[in-house]
Amino acid sequence: KNMSSSELRSAFLDFFRQRGHSIQPSSSLVPGNDPTLLFTNAGMVQFKDVFLGREHRDYTRAATSQRCVRAGGKHNDLENVGYTARHHTFFEMLGNFSFGDYFKQDAIHLAWDFLTKELGIPAEKLWVTVFDEDSEAEKIWLEDVGADPKRFSRIGSKDNFWAMGDIGPCGPCSEIFYDHGESIPGGPPGSPDEDGDRFIEIWNLVFMQYDRDSEGNLHALPKPSVDTGMGLERIAAVMQGVHSNYEIDLFQGLLKAAAKLAGIKDLNKSSLRVIADHIRSCAFLIVDGVLPSNEGRGYVLRRIIRRAIRHGYRLGIREVFFYQLVAPLVEQMGEAYPELKNAQEQVERVLKKEEERFAETLEQGMKILEACVAKLEGSTIPGNIVFQLYDTYGFPVDLTADFAREHQLTIDHAGFETEMAEQRNRARAASSFGADYNQTLKLDGQTEFTGYQYLEDSTKII
Ligand code: ATP
Ligand code: MG
Ligand code: MG
Ligand code: MG
Repeated sequence: KNMSSSELRSAFLDFFRQRGHSIQPSSSLVPGNDPTLLFTNAGMVQFKDVFLGREHRDYTRAATSQRCVRAGGKHNDLENVGYTARHHTFFEMLGNFSFGDYFKQDAIHLAWDFLTKELGIPAEKLWVTVFDEDSEAEKIWLEDVGADPKRFSRIGSKDNFWAMGDIGPCGPCSEIFYDHGESIPGGPPGSPDEDGDRFIEIWNLVFMQYDRDSEGNLHALPKPSVDTGMGLERIAAVMQGVHSNYEIDLFQGLLKAAAKLAGIKDLNKSSLRVIADHIRSCAFLIVDGVLPSNEGRGYVLRRIIRRAIRHGYRLGIREVFFYQLVAPLVEQMGEAYPELKNAQEQVERVLKKEEERFAETLEQGMKILEACVAKLEGSTIPGNIVFQLYDTYGFPVDLTADFAREHQLTIDHAGFETEMAEQRNRARAASSFGADYNQTLKLDGQTEFTGYQYLEDSTKII
């Protein structure tokens, strides 16, 4: 049966409400009081302390549709956007949770019933995986549910041991995939070519059993719990009979609006998909109080905005355009997220200002980059060019790397690092106090993010 994304969201929440779950609203993309986490990257984030037994709620079962961003930190899909049919920087995660209430048995049955009975997906289209040491889950699937052993695999900890971050709640998991059919390249989970888009993971059931400390030791949680997450866009693609998330209802308005701004007809261009993806993460990050800046969360936002603008440039757009996609986004999602609708003007203002600022240097920077590529010997963009673009033209390193990848090139990260270090030394020498450059940054009170992956990417700037 064909279902719209909003029908699916309601169907999911209703199904779990009828089964004793308390429906909770999505929390902010900026995790409250959790400096270990960059953005809310899963439905369980708002319940982290409940899993840890530090906080008590008046319910033991909950379900949500949670807005998530995966653009930095442990779960980072920024580099997948535009390249796979299934990854976004922003997506909605449907989830049901048990806080010491039901465990594996019920979690597996609930998920299977929702997919095969409520949504009517044929069992032959599904594929199930378990953690290879979890014979209990395997038994439930094969003996109780009656899953087909030919469409079943045991997977190691890379994919089937889920953790929110390096520290915190975690546990073995069991994942459900949908087979989009032979016409799509890609092998089943666990096979060498599993990274294609044929078998798409739709739902992850995490059996929350441990709390990992900063030394990497696992401690048993007070009560075994359940955390599940299903990507709304992925299940919508299944129910709408399309093989890419970008073809679902939620993206149509955005793609069309972006294509119109670019004056093109072909909605399948990867740059259009990148732009349609990025407007969602950027708008919702601003709604949740993040502003473009040169550090921390704000710098992640700035990088996503600038990537989107560069993709607009790639499509031939030469005007300030990105903020104009807020209106079609509000049209698509304003009902489900009134906070987006209420903040529309502010979001537009912030995006417009950021784009105007970047527009001053984008074209010059692009000319330098294009000239460099035209006369490049070898396949690596030199570190001094990457640095010049970064330092003078406001090109985040990942933006230059994104351009390089389109041209089957790479960038010289080490060379860039050397240039950065030299600049830091110059800044230190020039300071009349002889102050350490990093100390100066600390005065901003933004130090809680040091050590994240995007800082290791050398994205910290003056
Ligand atoms: P994948 O292996 O496809 O990258 P994942 O294992 O990293 O997904 P989980 O952390 O298990 O994803 O998240 C739970 C569910 O959220 C996934 O099963 C999927 O449906 C959805 N999901 C995860 N990442 C994304 C994303 N970047 N864009 C859209 N949906 C996503
Ligand atoms: Mg992933
Ligand atoms: Mg996975
Ligand atoms: Mg998963």
